[in-house]
This record gives sequence, structure tokens and C-alpha cells, in this order.
Amino acid sequence: MKIGQGTWQIGDEKHKEQGEITALRRGIELGMSLIDTAEMYGAGRSEELVGRAVAGLGRESYQLCSKVLPENAGRDRIFASCENSLRRLGADYLDIYLLHWRGGVPLGETVECMERLKTQGKIRSWGVSNFDVCDMEELFNLENGEKCEYNQVLYHIGSRGIEYDLLPWCKAHGVAVMAYCPLAQGGRLRRYGRDIFAEPLLTEIAEKYSATREQILLAFAACECIAIPKSSSVQHTNENAAAARLAVADSDWARLDEVFWPPSCKMHLDIE
Ligand code: NAP
Repeated sequence: MKIGQGTWQIGDEKHKEQGEITALRRGIELGMSLIDTAEMYGAGRSEELVGRAVAGLGRESYQLCSKVLPENAGRDRIFASCENSLRRLGADYLDIYLLHWRGGVPLGETVECMERLKTQGKIRSWGVSNFDVCDMEELFNLENGEKCEYNQVLYHIGSRGIEYDLLPWCKAHGVAVMAYCPLAQGGRLRRYGRDIFAEPLLTEIAEKYSATREQILLAFAACECIAIPKSSSVQHTNENAAAARLAVADSDWARLDEVFWPPSCKMHLDIE
């Protein structure tokens, strides 16, 4: 399944916790087994909530992805950061560990630490987040830089800049792209100041497939990437999992291209 689960702002409010845990567990049951979190989210509260959600489940039935803050990504702090994430998640290892965004620590030092964490069995693979092509090229020129397996970037139907260069670059170099904000944060992220969900063609195409507009957005992001929508309700989680089964015809994607244009030149990498 090319749809996982995001956790930003999950675990932030006590009264929502049980619903969030139930939703995450349901998502795993439905095959959305990759859970994305970060030491930054709620200063560790999201990781703790994920830990409670996966408690008692077989470790092979889900995959954990967490992220280290740039200021913690050097040899003096990353090992403690990783250990703290593991403790909050109640896990022995992370499936994926990402550098959340580029900061002041030299990239080569982070790569060396990521490889050491792999050797120690603390992580199975590593990657980066919010890296554009120039960052990826710099990374791949470093010793072991090509061992980066993931790049997590903002991507949704209203923000398609990565299709011009980053997506093809990652494909050519064997780097899987994870799409964050695949639902444009439920419409909060706008496109040229306009509400994506107010576009009539999106509604028309969603109706044609007896789907919601959000499901069309997810199906779009999952065409080329691993999409990690965040949901805090079982209903949303059910809908998100069902989006993986939507078979939108190429002709309908082409119609959507006329409204949500693909890029025709290099664009700035959108960041949230
Ligand atoms: P998102 O997944 O695009 O949107 C989340 C919003 O959509 C929530 O308000 C959610 O509501 C709503 N939603 C979920 N499923 C829905 C459905 N089926 N129908 C209608 N609404 C639905 O935004 P995001 O959380 O910012 O991004 C996803 C994940 O990417 C994050 O959680 C995080 O793990 C990751 N991320 C990474 C970075 C980075 O720098 N690497 C940055 C941002 C995010 P409810 O909560 O009410 O269900």
C-alpha cells in the first residue's frame, strides 16, 4: 500500500487521544502500516501516542518512521535523540530515520551517524526531508550519501513543483519519495490563494468515482509517492485506506491537469 499515516498534531490534546489511538490501529489493520512521526511533534507526545497505539501489535505488522531535528543531527546528540524516540515509541528499532530538514550540522557527519545507527541495529534505513535536487546532489557526492533511501517532501495536487525535477531525480537514484500534506492539510494549504477543495472539477471527478475530494487528492499523491495523510478519526482513516483502491482513469487525471497544472519550469520546494 502506498498510503501510510502521519501524526503531526496527534497526541496534543488529552481528550482526543483515545480516538487517535483507535484511528491509528484501524489504519494498520487496513494496511496503512507505515507510521510517520518525529521527535519534534508535540515535543515527543506524538511518538508516545504512537507507542501506545502499536503496543501489543506484532512488530512486523507496522513500520515506524521518525525524524531527528537538524540541531540534534550531529555525533554529539543524534544517538541520544534516536534512543529517546525509541523509548517513547516503545520500539527496539526504527524502520526509517529521517533528517527533518537541513541545518547547521555538516551533512557528511549526519550520514556517518545514520550509517552507525544502522550498524548498531537502531535503524533499518535512513533518509532526509525537505531536500531539493541541489541538496540531494550534494548528499550523493558524500561518502555513503547514496545510501539515503527516502526524501519526504510536501506534495499534493495543488503543489506539484517536485514533478519537474526532484521526483525524476529521486526515481533515477532509487530514492523513494514520501508525500507529506497530501490532503493539503484538509484545505488549509491554498493554491495561489484559492481553496483547492472549492474547484468544481475536483468535486465532479470525485462524484464520478463515488469518492470524496480528499480521496482523489490521496489517490493523486499515491500515484508517484508514498502518501502519509494524518487522520484523527476512524471514518477519515477508513476513507484514506479506500483511496488506495481508486482507479482514476488517465483521461480524468489529464482533465485535472488543466486545473491543477503540472510544473513547466523549476519551482521552489514548498515547505510546511
Ligand atoms: P494532511 O495529511 O494533508 O491533512 C491532515 C488534515 O486532513 C487533518 O485536518 C485531517 O482531519 C484531515 N483529513 C484526514 N483524512 C481526511 C479525510 N479522509 N477526509 C477529510 N479530511 C481528512 O496534513 P499534515 O498532517 O500536515 O501532513 C501529513 C503528515 O505529514 C503529518 O501528519 C506528518 O506526519 C508529515 N509532515 C511532515 C513534514 C516534514 O517537514 N517532513 C511537514 C508536515 C507534515 P482529522 O485530523 O480531523 O482527521
